Amino acid sequence: MDKKINVVGAGLAGCEAAFQIAERGIPVKLYEMKPQKFSPAHKSEDLAELVCSNSFKARNIENASGLLKEEMKALGSLIMDCALKSEVPAGGSLSVDRELFSRLVTERIGSHPLIEISREEVTRIIEDEITIYATGPLTSDALSQEFAGLCPSLSFFDAAAPIVFAESIDMNHAFRGSRYGKGDDDYINCPLSREEYLEFYNNLINAETAFVEDFDDIRLYEGCMPIEEMAKRGVDTLRFGPLKPVGFDKKYYAIVQLRQENLEGTIYNIVGFQTRLKFGEQKRVFGLIPALRNAEYARYGVMHRNTYLKSPGFLDRTYRVIGKNMYFAGQITGVEGYMESTSSGLVAGINAARLYQGKTPVVFPVSTAIGALANYAASYPGKDFQPMGINFGIIASGDIGIKNKVERRRKISENALVEIENIKKSLNG
Ligand SMILES: Cc1cc2nc3c(=O)[nH]c(=O)nc-3n(C[C@H](O)[C@H](O)[C@H](O)COP(=O)(O)OP(=O)(O)OC[C@H]3O[C@@H](n4cnc5c(N)ncnc54)[C@H](O)[C@@H]3O)c2cc1C
Repeated sequence: MDKKINVVGAGLAGCEAAFQIAERGIPVKLYEMKPQKFSPAHKSEDLAELVCSNSFKARNIENASGLLKEEMKALGSLIMDCALKSEVPAGGSLSVDRELFSRLVTERIGSHPLIEISREEVTRIIEDEITIYATGPLTSDALSQEFAGLCPSLSFFDAAAPIVFAESIDMNHAFRGSRYGKGDDDYINCPLSREEYLEFYNNLINAETAFVEDFDDIRLYEGCMPIEEMAKRGVDTLRFGPLKPVGFDKKYYAIVQLRQENLEGTIYNIVGFQTRLKFGEQKRVFGLIPALRNAEYARYGVMHRNTYLKSPGFLDRTYRVIGKNMYFAGQITGVEGYMESTSSGLVAGINAARLYQGKTPVVFPVSTAIGALANYAASYPGKDFQPMGINFGIIASGDIGIKNKVERRRKISENALVEIENIKKSLNG
C-alpha cells in the first residue's frame, strides 16, 4: 500500500484536498513551487493565494454560489473556515482580507501533523503513488507539457481588475452604499453623468492595450472579460454590466463600484474593471471617472494565461483520471472560480483518501452544487467544453412545482443541503 498521498500545488484546491486527506488520518506530501518559482499572477509566499478578486461571491442560498459555500461549510471545508475568519464587509457576498486569509490557510496546513510541505516545482508525473494535481490555471510549463501528453489541454487568458488606495478616492464625487440598500455602506459608488460616461466610454474603446501573446487566439473567461472588450460590444453594454446604475437613486446615469480589499479598508478594487490597457492608459482613462481623477493605484489590471484540461471522458465524477491512481483538482479541471476550484479539491481529497483506504468512492449527487460541478467536468456532452462556474442551470433539481424563481431556488438549495447532510453521515459512518 502507498505510504502517503501526494498533492501537487498548494492553492485553493490543493490545500483543501491535502486537509481533507490528512483529517482522515493519512499522511500527505504537499508540493508547492513558490517561492522557488512564481506564476505570472502569484506574488505571495503564502499558500492559497487569491490572485484577483477578494470575493467568494454571494452568500444567500437563493444564489448557486451561496449554496456551494453552505455545502462546503457543512462538509468541514478548510478554505470556507479560513474565509469566514478573514471576512471583510461586502454586502451580500463573502469577501476576505486576502493576506489574512492566506496566512490562516498557511498556518493550518503548516501545523497539521500529517502534512509535509515540500517547496519545490514538480516537473514530471509522479508514478506509483496516489497523487492529486492541483496546479491551477497557471501550471508551470514543464508539468503542463506532461499533462498535455495525458490529455489534450486548451488555454486562454484571464484579466485582473486594478486596485486603488482609499485615501486617493475623491469622496466629493462618490458615496457609500450597497445596491438596494443590502449591506451597510459596504461599497464606494462613483457616479457618472451622461456626458461623463460618454467621454469615458469613447476614451476606453480607443485606448492603447498592452501586447498579450496569442491574444487573438484566446478564449476569454466571460466572468473576467476585459472592460474595454466588453465596451466594444456597444455604447450601453457597460451600463447593463459593471456600470449599471440600478439599486440607487434614479438620477445616476452610470455607477462604478469599488469594493474593499483589506480589513483596514485602505485599498479598494474597481469592480468589473479587469483590463489589458497599458498602465498609463488605465490611469488616464479610469481617471475620467470623477471620483478617480487623482486615484493612486496599488495594482494595475493585468492579463494572464489560463490552462485547463478537456475533462469530459478523461476524469470521472470524483475528478479521478479514468483508469489511473491520479486525480486533478481546481480550475485546471474546467470548473471556474475560487470556491468551485476548492470544491473539486474537497471531492478529490475525500475520494483519494477512500481509494487509499480501499473504500468505495463517494459520488456527489447532481442535485447538489458540489456534485453538479463534478458532473459538468466529467460529463459535459458538447464539443465546446469551457470552464464553468456554479449556477442553477447545471444543478439537476427535477420539477419541484414552484413557479416563483426565488422560492424555487431556495427549495432546490434546501433539498441539496439535506443531501449533503446524508453524505456527511455516510462519510462519518
Ligand atoms: C489571473 C487570474 C485571475 C482570476 N480571478 C478570479 C477571480 O477574481 N475570482 C474567481 O473566483 N476566480 C478567479 N480566477 C480563477 C480561479 O478561481 C483561480 O485561478 C483559483 O486560484 C484556482 O484555484 P486552484 O487551486 O485551481 O489554483 P491556484 O490557486 O492557482 O493554485 C495552484 C498552485 O499550484 C502551484 N504550482 C503550479 N505549478 C506547479 C508545479 N509544477 N509544482 C508545484 N507547484 C505548482 C502554484 O504556485 C499555485 O500555488 C482567476 C484566475 C486567474 C489566472
